[in-house]
Amino acid sequence: MRLVCSNDKFEYDTYLLVKEFWPKEEIKRQNVGSDAFLKDSAAGGPDGDSSGEPFGDEVVIECLYDKCRTVITLAESDDSKEFKACAGCKRFEYPVPDGLDEKEYKKAHMRNLYLGLSEITGIQLPWGNLTGVRPTKPARQMYLDGATDGEVARFYKETRFVSDEKAALASEIAKREAKILSAIDPINGYSLYIGIPFCPTRCAYCSFLSNPIAKWQSRVDEYLGCLKKELDFTKQAFAGKKLDTIYIGGGTPTALSADELKVLMEMLNPTPAGLLEFTVEAGRPDSITREKLRVLKEAGVSRISVNPQTMNEETLKRIGRAHTVEQTREAFALAREEGFDNINMDLILGLPGEGLREVEYTLSEVEKMRPDSLTVHSLAIKRSALMKEWVRGTGDEGHATLAKLAYETAQRLNLNPYYLYRQKNIAGNLENVGFAKEGLYGIYNILMMEEVQSIVALGAGTVSKRVLSEKDISRCDTAKDIGLYMDNIDEMIARKKELFC
Ligand code: SF4
Repeated sequence: MRLVCSNDKFEYDTYLLVKEFWPKEEIKRQNVGSDAFLKDSAAGGPDGDSSGEPFGDEVVIECLYDKCRTVITLAESDDSKEFKACAGCKRFEYPVPDGLDEKEYKKAHMRNLYLGLSEITGIQLPWGNLTGVRPTKPARQMYLDGATDGEVARFYKETRFVSDEKAALASEIAKREAKILSAIDPINGYSLYIGIPFCPTRCAYCSFLSNPIAKWQSRVDEYLGCLKKELDFTKQAFAGKKLDTIYIGGGTPTALSADELKVLMEMLNPTPAGLLEFTVEAGRPDSITREKLRVLKEAGVSRISVNPQTMNEETLKRIGRAHTVEQTREAFALAREEGFDNINMDLILGLPGEGLREVEYTLSEVEKMRPDSLTVHSLAIKRSALMKEWVRGTGDEGHATLAKLAYETAQRLNLNPYYLYRQKNIAGNLENVGFAKEGLYGIYNILMMEEVQSIVALGAGTVSKRVLSEKDISRCDTAKDIGLYMDNIDEMIARKKELFC
């Protein structure tokens, strides 16, 4: 499929929304500018009399944005490089009001784009024309500004075309977030993220920075030394500020040995008084041992994750996740024995080969373990060849049903939805939702999504954020390549110095 857009400022947002309607299509993008667009294509379109660009024999979506109208056309082009009329060709035109400022003008076109694509496909997307990562952010801001439930609902429904169900979910989460974040000092507090970019092995669907630890074993001590250098800088730069949360993620932090974990924990101890949360995303069950759990417990870790993703053995093999279902059960039981009373479990819906029966089984097995929080992800489709195969083999029509089942399980476990984010190419146009027991919400997760506090991120492939206000956010990153990160650690620190000091 080819997307032809007449305005380069709208092109990326147009692409994102078109992709939501055709998630499994590879979409080639072409921006032609409005003059060329009018001359070359819009005049022709489905009527078939355009001289046209060389599109080849394919379906074309044209989006013409001009001062007073949006025109969305579904056409076909053939080998003669001309548009041709076809049974499925469609054209919709919507007015754009006069006198809008730049921001509102774009919003009006994007609303029209949604209406046009909806007419063409006959599809209403659950999240309407919201394509961003953080769909709850506007609701939280509206509540802070004193909006009523009705006003928030109207915003989602009338200006963004969000379904009633998703608007209610976003509003519920936004209200809960606002309450949790009221205990956070956005200016004098900060949070710390530490990235451990190693895993026992690499899962096939992985989109994180992850390297098999065996390959880097000889340099793990050096990596920990670099983290210490970054941490020393952070302690100095943030002296006088309050550390609210620590989150160690990855990769898989428990891919480190118990001794290595101990070195890492010693860097952080003693943890400051008033620390609200100390999370270690243990993650892969095959990396969790009693000894490691004891190291974490002694260091004051308050929240961990044991992530099954699925409780179906065959799927684990299919997705290259080198652990068994039994290992998940054992790791979870071990963590409980060692006194962890805030354990999260991550699940993924939409895994290849998984339908209603498999997801029901996973949910029933997870329910038996009774985690304190549950994060339900919808598989986000990345570009690798393997993923393309999966996409072909997986229908997302029933995806909403799977999500509903997962959300009902969370409800039975007395877990409330407390944070939500979306990704590009997410299965079923859905979302990822974190659920937790009252009082055991993952505060760092909310801070990261709602961007209300500075986060200092240490380690390879991490991004630090300096938040001065919700509209004044700047970032710096570190090298994704572990070797480059270590070899240039002084420069990594200098970047942070420039950002924060
Ligand atoms: S455990 Fe997570 S970070 Fe590690 S390879 Fe698997 S998906 Fe990637």
